[in-house]
Amino acid sequence: MVERYANLIGGEWRLSDNFVENINPSDTSDVIGLYSQASRSDVDDAVAIGRRAMRGWRTAPLEQRQAILNRIGAELMDRSAELGELLSREEGKTLPEGRGEVYRAGQFFTYYAAEVLRQIGENADSVRPGIEVDMRREPMGLVAVVSPWNFPIATASWKIAPALAYGNAVMWKPANETPASAWALADIIRRSGLPDGVFQLVMGSGSVVGNALAAHPGVDAITFTGSYEVGCQVASAAAANLTKFQLELGSKNALLVMDDADIGVAVNAAVVGGYSGTGQKCTASSRLIVHGKVHDEFVSCLASALSALKVGHALDPASQMGPVVSARQLQSNLGWIEKARQAGAQIAVAGERLQRAKEGHYMSPALLVGTTNDMEFNREEMFGPIAAVQKVDSYEEGLNIVNDTRYGLVAGIVTGSLARSSHFRRNAETGCVMVNLPTAGTDYHVPFGGRKDSSSGPREQGRFAAEFYTQVKTTYVMAGEPE
Ligand code: NAP
Ligand code: MG
Repeated sequence: MVERYANLIGGEWRLSDNFVENINPSDTSDVIGLYSQASRSDVDDAVAIGRRAMRGWRTAPLEQRQAILNRIGAELMDRSAELGELLSREEGKTLPEGRGEVYRAGQFFTYYAAEVLRQIGENADSVRPGIEVDMRREPMGLVAVVSPWNFPIATASWKIAPALAYGNAVMWKPANETPASAWALADIIRRSGLPDGVFQLVMGSGSVVGNALAAHPGVDAITFTGSYEVGCQVASAAAANLTKFQLELGSKNALLVMDDADIGVAVNAAVVGGYSGTGQKCTASSRLIVHGKVHDEFVSCLASALSALKVGHALDPASQMGPVVSARQLQSNLGWIEKARQAGAQIAVAGERLQRAKEGHYMSPALLVGTTNDMEFNREEMFGPIAAVQKVDSYEEGLNIVNDTRYGLVAGIVTGSLARSSHFRRNAETGCVMVNLPTAGTDYHVPFGGRKDSSSGPREQGRFAAEFYTQVKTTYVMAGEPE
């Protein structure tokens, strides 16, 4: 009997009439659970409850808020091995990746627990004598969180933790592809001492629950991570109510490998940046821009490294790359490789469907060479274990190609030259830049986000998150004269 999991509404578990099956992509005969699908009226109830609960939470003692966030963070870290396994089972990333993600989710909570005590405002003298002005941040109110499947617990945590720390109530709609991690986090939050209704879980489809949250006049702010297309729908639904929104969207990140690069560093950056998480990262480097002088050596070393990667069941400790998340994603990835072949790209590493002991969505990593930046796969996000090499003759040509995209999340350079890396840091049109590092792999205490079509609204993470989760109030006080 497969277990049924409920939504968390007003501090109570609420089972729905409809459920979604959570399938293990490493073994499609493994059904992890059945997860409730909230209805529009569940969303309406939760909004009303959240609006009542936020009034108490915004004035809750700071140390109470801090202790609750610390408790959530500590449990995530303590249980990172167990919950990481669950995450890997439902999403398909390798065990170290799943465990690392859960641990990191815990760190978001403990980081923001500390930020609870750092909400310090500013003050000023008025231009009018005798009047003082203070500027303080207040919570937005009720915040909706809509998150993707590729980092099911980390993405949500870097939104939920600051939302709670800055005094907001939260409603979370996780991705239906990965509801088990979401339910586990909701269970931890429910037992943390957080007052009922301050955090609510509303699992369900994007088209019903996600859309209802984006369009709801009772939601004060919505933070979304996912695809560009859905992000635009969220933005227009939110804008109709003048709801504040924050979007972290698609990308087409490039790694520029210069003629003076350490080839070992460059190959490692390309493997980690392009293929960790089975390439399903918004920070993945799917474009490899390589100087002609090192092109052949780089391609041959990268091809050997990729051919040696062990693709297998996410829970097998020997696996270095898990399956892709779903049959739909697998079809899409194989379709991109076929399109690349037709466009004239050479296939240096196969990118083929693989059979394993269990039926799953397995494919080998793919490396395309002899490509140009106008080819469709170098313009659109693929979101799979596929990278394409473009050969360039100079740094200037490389930088132009790095920036020749509608997206702007991360750009990387591998070079021994301080002058070039400094120029690159200033001139890459992205929110994040990596020097002699993979494009994927960021910290939790500093801002994260992109430019152009990759992002809209304030940065996430670190203390910059306050820009989204709070609003500023300016108060004027006429003190008068002492008696
Ligand atoms: P997606 O299809 O856009 O879905 C993201 C979330 O939005 C899911 O929870 C989805 O629900 C929900 N959703 C779908 N339709 C909706 C609608 N009409 N209104 C409101 N919500 C709706 O993206 P994904 O396939 O899960 O994730 C992959 C994408 O996320 C990639 O483009 C990737 O680059 C991006 N991403 C960006 C970042 C970043 O920080 N920039 C980080 C990670 C991922 P259901 O799927 O449950 O229906
Ligand atoms: Mg799943």
